[in-house]
Amino acid sequence: MDAEDPLRDFRQEFVLPDGVVYLVGNSLGALPRRTSARVARAVEEEWGRQLVGGWNSAGWYAQPLTTGDRLAPLIGAGPGQVVVGNTTSIAVYQAVAAALRLRPDRNVIVVDRTNFPTDNYIVHELGELRDVSEGRFEDAAAVLLSEVDYRTGARYDVPEITAKVQEAGALMIWDVCHSVGAMRVDVSQADFAVGCTYKYLNAGPGAPAFLYVNPRHHAEASNVLPGWYSHAEPFAFEPDYRPAEGIRRFTVSTPHVLSFAALEAALDIWERVDLDQVRAKSMALTSLFVDLVGDALELASPRDAERRGSQVSFFHEDGYPVMRALIDRGVHGDFRAPDILRFGFAPLYTRFVDVYDAAATLHEVLDKELWRDERYARRLAVT
Ligand SMILES: *Cc1c(COP(=O)(O)O)cnc(C)c1O
Repeated sequence: MDAEDPLRDFRQEFVLPDGVVYLVGNSLGALPRRTSARVARAVEEEWGRQLVGGWNSAGWYAQPLTTGDRLAPLIGAGPGQVVVGNTTSIAVYQAVAAALRLRPDRNVIVVDRTNFPTDNYIVHELGELRDVSEGRFEDAAAVLLSEVDYRTGARYDVPEITAKVQEAGALMIWDVCHSVGAMRVDVSQADFAVGCTYKYLNAGPGAPAFLYVNPRHHAEASNVLPGWYSHAEPFAFEPDYRPAEGIRRFTVSTPHVLSFAALEAALDIWERVDLDQVRAKSMALTSLFVDLVGDALELASPRDAERRGSQVSFFHEDGYPVMRALIDRGVHGDFRAPDILRFGFAPLYTRFVDVYDAAATLHEVLDKELWRDERYARRLAVT
């Protein structure tokens, strides 16, 4: 299967330590080989030699928009529709606050209580939260959902829900943190979308997030965090605020230039990738893992590959020590409380042989109860 994989050459683009099967690319993508040189250039050449001139000559000033345009095709967006910067949590706040201002007579925000908690923590100050399982959108200002669930990997049918939400007069906000880079994403019908670049996109720890705003809202939507970067003329330093036209209105402030350099290196790779091949390989990798693990563990992810993202999760009440035992044997997944073992498959660098090795190690840890070793019981700060 590896020999016939059309994406097989992309693995050479990444630094992957010997003896490690890395199945956590859904949390922190692996390091692209080209990133070190690109970041070194930003530090030594741009910052070191151009100093403050780098804002003009190295393109730092325009980075939130230029990288937004480069990233846009990965989410089905066009130029001038995506802005990069800040974090996903901040982008969520901007999107939901903008939606509430566009629907001033409504204050309900429909969310999924099982979503990655930051999304719900961030918006609970803004309005009244209602769980999506109630299926009621008619008085909602906005509906905020993750395309792929971070814990189970379950995937929503985006066009179907988007249409239903918009028919009810609410605005649809997609969080694509766990789908961008794992499949073809299409936010073009959504009102807003947010996502991060350090998971499948491989832009590195702390890499900036992105915010998509549908062009039909560019004239009316407002930025609730109107920093100087979003002013119509930032370098006029006017005492009063005037919003920029277009997507620049949704910038906040100074971009994290060194992190943008790592994102640019990652995007160099993505510009050569066929997302249909990514999705096909992702479904094959996750299906193989589900088959090889078999009945050894209870599956927490949908069994139908079409209905899940690029991860496979299982329940185990001692999931934490099981995962520690696996990591000790070179198979890196992660644990999500209270009882989920999570394995992410990054089609650009995960091989089919890695899936075999991971499943064999998992069977050994379970069959021999290797996880009962007391070294694995104590929880580290990051699980
Ligand atoms: C990873 C992830 C985030 C990350 O939020 P940060 O603000 O970057 O820490 C947010 N929401 C979802 C759904 C995620 O999967």
